[in-house]
Amino acid sequence: MNDASAISVTATPAPAISVTGLTFAYPAGPTVLDQLRFEIAAGEAVGLVGPNGAGKTTLFLCLAGVAPIAAGQARVAGLDPAADRKQLPAKVGIVFQNSDDQLFSASVGDDVAFGPLNLRLPAAEVRARVAEALARVGLTGFESRVPHHLSGGEKRRAALAGVLAMRPEILLLDEPSMFLDPRGRRELLALLGEIGGTQIIAAHDLGFILERCRRVLALDRGRLVADGPAREVLADAALMEAHGLEVPYPLR
Ligand code: ADP
Repeated sequence: MNDASAISVTATPAPAISVTGLTFAYPAGPTVLDQLRFEIAAGEAVGLVGPNGAGKTTLFLCLAGVAPIAAGQARVAGLDPAADRKQLPAKVGIVFQNSDDQLFSASVGDDVAFGPLNLRLPAAEVRARVAEALARVGLTGFESRVPHHLSGGEKRRAALAGVLAMRPEILLLDEPSMFLDPRGRRELLALLGEIGGTQIIAAHDLGFILERCRRVLALDRGRLVADGPAREVLADAALMEAHGLEVPYPLR
């Protein structure tokens, strides 16, 4: 008898992110993330929506190993953020809401080189990665520019270059379209599409999410209140209103 069913040759690839009951509180504070459960497939772009204080930024900090979580509550790029905090920066990049929090060196080149230098890569490899990352975000030739003299859109792209220079598998983007003018916003949308990989985009700009993400997670008071197709979740007026959000214009 041919028992082919016992031999699986098409193993399902492991999800890029698997969150299995993630609960988190800041020291001596209330619960900020409450029993979260979701999976994100490799290559998926997922929107993360919710009112201020819902826990979006905290979730990113937990997934990236910045905020300490308990062991066994998440797998991120094959790692447990609780146990493998040192390896995470090479796999997971966060682009913070405020680029000024991310740009702290005297030059754009130094800022972009910071991560690769921390990986102790050889100097030539660091230079190559800096050039490649700057080219990717359209900032070739900006190496010696002073970060805090850049425009808002340029700062955002420089911060993104610093993350891309690590060649992460997963990108966590916190309010990426904030402070961008319409052209900067359009360019960023195109850029994120080109970069690909696994992306979670937290934003109040629901139109931005709608253009970039097929799926949306909605968070309120640390709980997951929706997980589904962006066009369905964001069009649900009752759900949006119950969680301090509004149906974006294209879905009205
Ligand atoms: P969001 O990104 O959705 O606006 P946050 O993750 O920033 O939400 O905040 C979630 C909750 O955690 C809020 O109640 C906020 O006040 C609290 N919080 C955020 N950062 C800290 C911190 N460093 N220490 C204590 N509480 C914090």
